[in-house]
Amino acid sequence: MFEPSLYGGIEAGGTKFVCAVAAGPENIAGEARFGTQAPEDTLQQASNFFLPYVQSKQIRRIGLGSFGPVDLEPGSPTYGYITSTPKVEWQNTDIAGILRERLGLPVVMDTDVNAAALGEHIWGASRGVDPSLYLTVGTGIGGGLVKDGRPYHGLLSPEMGHLRIPHNRTADPFPGACPYHGDCLEGLAAGPAIEKRMGRRGETLAADDPFWGLEAEYLAHGLTNCILTLSPGIVILGGGVMRNMILLQNIRMKVQESLNGYVKHGRIMERIEEYIVPPMLGERSGVLGAIALAMAEDGELR
Ligand code: ZN
Repeated sequence: MFEPSLYGGIEAGGTKFVCAVAAGPENIAGEARFGTQAPEDTLQQASNFFLPYVQSKQIRRIGLGSFGPVDLEPGSPTYGYITSTPKVEWQNTDIAGILRERLGLPVVMDTDVNAAALGEHIWGASRGVDPSLYLTVGTGIGGGLVKDGRPYHGLLSPEMGHLRIPHNRTADPFPGACPYHGDCLEGLAAGPAIEKRMGRRGETLAADDPFWGLEAEYLAHGLTNCILTLSPGIVILGGGVMRNMILLQNIRMKVQESLNGYVKHGRIMERIEEYIVPPMLGERSGVLGAIALAMAEDGELR
């Protein structure tokens, strides 16, 4: 019996690492999650998880979706590095290079949000829809666009979390929490901004707390800008903050209000619940996306 090839996938997040050996959501041979510590310990833990699979020749490539910023410019001397992250001990870490050396396997890398966007496109909520946008709202806000079946890159990676949006100063005098821009989208609406403004974490607020109206307003403004710029065929909203389904409903309504009939398409005007959707792969979008990165590199997805 011919065994399908397996791949290694790593979702390297700022707070946790998820590692898996798989060839898709229906074919997961092993999985591990652990907290993100200093690079040496964390990458050792990841290597220890994969080594038995490497030694038995069950995997032939590693896909890595990493927090960042990361250097993904081909030919750059620091390609595959985490560069100027606010997580000081991870600054200038050759994450892809260290894993490649420890495991003796090629490593294909992208941002964590691009990996999640690809995972959902191949196996999840945006399957068959191109271009598709994945926006995550959690510790930070980030967006990944899949275009022609691949994560989109420009000069660097798109940074949709830092879009400037109208700040409702009357209802919300909070100055914003982004160290670079203050009241950009992430500075107003990511998890840390909620905690700083409200004095408690978002998940401890009731799902129908009046604050969520403001949160929906900001996220709808950001999303409207993305829809007007990129015209995605579908938008997936993931991340910890988006587990609140009332918030999701509210964002759909406010995006319709904000577009105000200008972008005329049935999916936006009449069936917005099919247009702005939650992820289908749940907590596994990122790690399965990393698997998809590795499979795509081997031509295994077409
Ligand atoms: Zn910002």
